[in-house]
Amino acid sequence: GPQRVDRSVDSVCPFCGVGCLVTYHVRDEKIVSVEGRAGPANAGRLCVKGRFGFDYVHHPERLTQPLVRRAGVPKDPALLGTPRDWREVFEPVGWDEALERATAPLRALRAQHGPAALAGFGSAKGSNEEAYLFQKLVRTVFGSNNVDHCTRLCHASSVAALLEGVGSGAVSNPVADVAEAELILVIGSNPTANHPVAATWMKNAARRGARIVLADPRVTDLARHAWRVLPFKADSDVALLNALLHTIVEEGLVNEAFVRERAANVEALRAHVRDFSPEAMAPVCGIAAETLREVARAYATARSAIILWGMGVSQHVHGTDNVRCLIALATLTGQIGRPGTGLHPLRGQNNVQGASDAGLIPMMFPNYQRVDRPEAHAWFEAFWGAQLDDKPGATVVEILNRALAPTEDPQKVRGMYIMGENPAMSDPDLHHARAALAALDHLVVQDIFLTETAWLADVVLPASAWPEKTGTVSNTDRMVQMGRRALNPPGDARPDLWIVQQMGQRLGLYAPKPGAATGATGWEYPGPESGVAAVFDEMRTAMQAAIGGITWERLGAASTVTYPCLTPEDPGQPVVFTERFPTPSGRVQLVPAGLVPAAERPDAEYPLVLITGRQLEHWHTGSMTRRSQVLDALEPEATASVHGDDLAAWGLAPGDWAELRSRRGSVRVRLRRDDGTPRGSVFLPFAYAEAAANLLTHAALDPFGKIPEFKYCAVALRPA
Ligand code: SF4
Repeated sequence: GPQRVDRSVDSVCPFCGVGCLVTYHVRDEKIVSVEGRAGPANAGRLCVKGRFGFDYVHHPERLTQPLVRRAGVPKDPALLGTPRDWREVFEPVGWDEALERATAPLRALRAQHGPAALAGFGSAKGSNEEAYLFQKLVRTVFGSNNVDHCTRLCHASSVAALLEGVGSGAVSNPVADVAEAELILVIGSNPTANHPVAATWMKNAARRGARIVLADPRVTDLARHAWRVLPFKADSDVALLNALLHTIVEEGLVNEAFVRERAANVEALRAHVRDFSPEAMAPVCGIAAETLREVARAYATARSAIILWGMGVSQHVHGTDNVRCLIALATLTGQIGRPGTGLHPLRGQNNVQGASDAGLIPMMFPNYQRVDRPEAHAWFEAFWGAQLDDKPGATVVEILNRALAPTEDPQKVRGMYIMGENPAMSDPDLHHARAALAALDHLVVQDIFLTETAWLADVVLPASAWPEKTGTVSNTDRMVQMGRRALNPPGDARPDLWIVQQMGQRLGLYAPKPGAATGATGWEYPGPESGVAAVFDEMRTAMQAAIGGITWERLGAASTVTYPCLTPEDPGQPVVFTERFPTPSGRVQLVPAGLVPAAERPDAEYPLVLITGRQLEHWHTGSMTRRSQVLDALEPEATASVHGDDLAAWGLAPGDWAELRSRRGSVRVRLRRDDGTPRGSVFLPFAYAEAAANLLTHAALDPFGKIPEFKYCAVALRPA
């Protein structure tokens, strides 16, 4: 029968960007079960992570007191991933001492070396209010724009292309719009693993007759529901997409009325794709010319066709080019600006959309106001009452590179504050990233577990898990959704919003001018739960053009409001670009893309392609899901997936151990047979600290989005 519960609290799933609404059932101050609520993104559905991934909150390894590194204990990256007793490295202290020891060295570094010496990583796992306040702290208190988060590793290239092309980095249509689509192009994405409830909408659409085209080097579960499957060669996205564009131009499938009115640079694009016939591109991308033509025709002539993509598109040195091609595809055919059409980069983290919107990125203030645009700079200086840097800051990978810069380099990063991110697992080329973190003069990490990153910290501040605080998050569909506190944080752990305010007060480098937007007492926001409503209100003022009509009260009543939402009466706009594009000209700016090879190709020494990614049961660096009993029981160890033919050729069997080696590192994993993985390649999830995939990956960056090439590097495999 049903279990007795003391209370039931409505919130949002803390894992992926689909943004399923949940209810936490609490008994004896513990979450005992999670139920799907009827939200617009999930209609009561949940995946295995949302349903069973809640007990990490009560895991015995939760941080319950502030920690400081013991004198003389070195920061040793070589020990990460091996079990250790934290007491040998850290000693617990009270909050007062912890905050003093967190902030005094940051103050000193800024005084001695200037604002460029400091940087911050915020989190796509926290709330909008936390993201907003964190970036405000870096900009106003550290005094630079060196603030970023894992969007840089996720859809930074998509956002770069979308801002350039259509003037907005968010999705044009919600996932549920697949119900209105006649054709659904899913590219570089494995939605049944990574956006599972979104995948259910796609499967429902297929059942009702929509044609799914699945284009991905790996043939994954959604293929069972697809009309056409295009397992193109890894790294050949632009060849494939330009061949589709070529067909559309050559066969007269361009929506001429649409492009005349709503696109710019059309002729240059038409001329550019002339060289990319399906016949010429077939050997490059590995898909038959006739199939490419058939898919191009189906997409162009569908009454409505939508494109959804994931990190298979974005995580390349040509990630921005890949997305430029997708924008061109939708634009030339007029498949945008209506229900059931458009462009949807499936956002990974639960709040990567919201954290980016809130300004947790180095080149833009909240709501994508460029820091180097004089009007925006002046507006935020007045609003925050602080002097702000007018130069874009460094990105995630650049910040860690700067931590290893020579000591005389004026840009050298020496102190960092990291809230809720785990770059010691998530960044490319981990030996380098971990060495960079260890090289910092001072590192403050705020998190709920002693993550791999926290092991390298000087001060660790125990924070709150998602069910322990109230705040808003924005999902992949641009829905702002309210999460409510179901529990108190354990022991001496504190809400992140409180910690950031304490850090701001203690850093004491900045007192707001009278009349500025911040609370009258500086870094202290009035009201319950660390002033979350007051922070939201300030953020709303800074982001009028997106969320001006979304008040805290409205969110409390509705749980979900979609932006843009400009007035309290505005119902929100799930489908955008219906009249014009928010570019200076009001038109899409088309940008032709050429073929750019991956930074590191296979060769005799490293003959295989490594593709990294995620699996259904685990989330990103594993800090939460590997501490969830059910999820960890389902997938308890790191496995590398390879094609059965390759296994046979190497004389290996599923379950055998192998060593995977790149020019940068090696890991030992068990092999799994997966004939959806292309021959000559290896798929490795990045959630396992004991076999960290990113020890192998390459830190080459897309020049526009500054995203690393997680989806392609060269490795060798041998039995181990
Ligand atoms: Fe949570 Fe995403 Fe699963 Fe929904 S689909 S339950 S948001 S992990």
